[in-house]
Amino acid sequence: MITLDSFCALGEPQRALVQDVRSGRAPHATLITGIAGTGKRTLARLLACALLCRSDGDRPCMQCKDCRRAQAGTHPDLLMPSVREKDRSIKVDDLRAVIQALSYHAAEGGRRVVLLENAQRMTVQAQNALLKSLEEPDGETTFLLTASGETGLLPTVRSRCRVVRVQPWAPAEIERELLRRQVDSAQAQTIAALCGGSLGRALDMYENPAFLSQRTLCERTFFSVRSAQDVPPACALLRDRKDDADALLDLLEQQEREYLLHSMNAGPAPKPSKDALCAHAWEQASPRALENVLSAVLLARRQRTCNVSWQAIADKLLYTISEELN
Ligand SMILES: [Zn+2]
Repeated sequence: MITLDSFCALGEPQRALVQDVRSGRAPHATLITGIAGTGKRTLARLLACALLCRSDGDRPCMQCKDCRRAQAGTHPDLLMPSVREKDRSIKVDDLRAVIQALSYHAAEGGRRVVLLENAQRMTVQAQNALLKSLEEPDGETTFLLTASGETGLLPTVRSRCRVVRVQPWAPAEIERELLRRQVDSAQAQTIAALCGGSLGRALDMYENPAFLSQRTLCERTFFSVRSAQDVPPACALLRDRKDDADALLDLLEQQEREYLLHSMNAGPAPKPSKDALCAHAWEQASPRALENVLSAVLLARRQRTCNVSWQAIADKLLYTISEELN
């Protein structure tokens, strides 16, 4: 179980934020950013619990009715947009119920929390609709936003928030969290070294035995092509892995976004394994080239839902990567 104290150990910005929330001095709006798997959502949810918890002791107590309902997402004063699909943008319509609720007082007379995960997915219209509430603190509402980065958010929204950048976890911290979950120490060490500072990814790796083989395959293919002649052997490796297609695209997109953030000086260099033969080319690639690759990955995802064959999708994707990184 990760607690707010686990986050305090990760760095001063997180520690200061947790302390402010616990002492009743929470900022009106906080934007938590960081690469995938650093625990932005977990941190935001724990902070929401801490803000709604009415226990007399340390908050969140995770035992009281408020904590339990906040954790389950059913607390009437925890306002979240209803976005079900993972990759969809957040539109004004999704925020309508939240904005409407804000025109009344908190349902239970205490504090109220607006939790907006993946805030970078809000359309410009949705962000504008939110602005008024962000601009006018009412004393009872706290906004918690999470986002992969600050790009995609309007400067007017960003400037209303305290920005807390969650740094990647140190391998030792990850190892400690895994050991607390009774993971065998050799395995914990391997995963901590491979997970690129992402606790979420570390847990995925531990819980999903196929993960390590998928990651290796992803690195030996997508992260090992640099010219057209590298494509056919990579394509051959992917041919029979149709069942892993979505997981492979997830892994590719996750790492690709890290390279993109790094290219814009907004994140640390990803740490690929020695299986990624062209990692250097990814690290040197321009933001424009990486954006083109990201568009190709997103197109591949759409094609997956339209019955395009996995082989054709993989082939096209590998050629695009080899052209952009050449
Ligand atoms: Zn509580």
